[in-house]
Amino acid sequence: MIHADKAGGGAPYVLAIASGKGGTGKTLVATNAAVLAAATGLRVVLADCDVEAPNDHLFLRCVTESASPVAVPVAEVDPSACSACGRCRDVCAYGAVRILGASAIVFDELCKGCGLCVDVCPEHAVLEAPRRVGEVVSGPVEGRPGLSLVTGRLDVGQVKSPSIIRSVRAAAAALAGDLVVLDAPPGVACSAVAAVRGSDLLLLVTEPTVFGLHDLELSLRLGRDLDLPMAVVLNREGTGEADIEGLCRSWGVPIVARIPFDRRIAQVYARGDLVADELPELAQVLPELLEVLPGISRRGVMSL
Ligand code: SF4
Ligand code: SF4
Repeated sequence: MIHADKAGGGAPYVLAIASGKGGTGKTLVATNAAVLAAATGLRVVLADCDVEAPNDHLFLRCVTESASPVAVPVAEVDPSACSACGRCRDVCAYGAVRILGASAIVFDELCKGCGLCVDVCPEHAVLEAPRRVGEVVSGPVEGRPGLSLVTGRLDVGQVKSPSIIRSVRAAAAALAGDLVVLDAPPGVACSAVAAVRGSDLLLLVTEPTVFGLHDLELSLRLGRDLDLPMAVVLNREGTGEADIEGLCRSWGVPIVARIPFDRRIAQVYARGDLVADELPELAQVLPELLEVLPGISRRGVMSL
């Protein structure tokens, strides 16, 4: 069992749940594992880092919610002060600045807010202004003592999902739980990296299909590059022939839980209910999963 690391100063254990592609059951595992861990008396924070399409809140409703906007600094040029010298354009590594006519202009979507153009401008014509990219919503979950939910939401048309994800992780850490369950975005792009980096364990959810096999390998590479301990959950076992076991064996990564293909799971999920409540006999694999994870993780077995 994952226990609170009280002797180690109280930093929560961070379990990142991810997948190489969407639809493998990542949210199913994250929501049910969080609920079952909270039911054991742990203070658990479920952090929905799938900020482009968060949906953990469809399964777990908050009693009260507080929302905080997330803003990132973006360079802004005052055209009346700009001499069009081009220095800001020349130093910007992201190609975010162009000289148009008598002034520089900044393309918001490309600006990373590094501040270099502000420093080099001889006319002091560049300022950094906060630009909203989304929000973080958090609160205790209704009817689940010890469980809180933190949800990141990227505004429509925005691209800076890593900024929202970092804010979600900071909000989850500030709630000072024993366990943070991160529901990461699918894939291996920068948003997935922002979600799982530095976690105590990367738990990859996959299915025995050719797509599951292919995308699991991508996720394994991501975990290796980030130097994370890893384990695999095989969902919908029995639906395909792909050799997930062989791949995991060749990587030395254990399969720590197997969820059978069962129509009832899909029905419960489609209703927005939890397997932990509706099908406790099937959910039994998840408490077993929580038992074995600390033995694999970078934190090792912790004690109360
Ligand atoms: S460095 Fe300053 S003055 Fe030169 S183009 Fe950029 S904003 Fe204008
Ligand atoms: S703040 Fe950095 S990324 Fe943004 S325009 Fe200036 S130099 Fe480019």
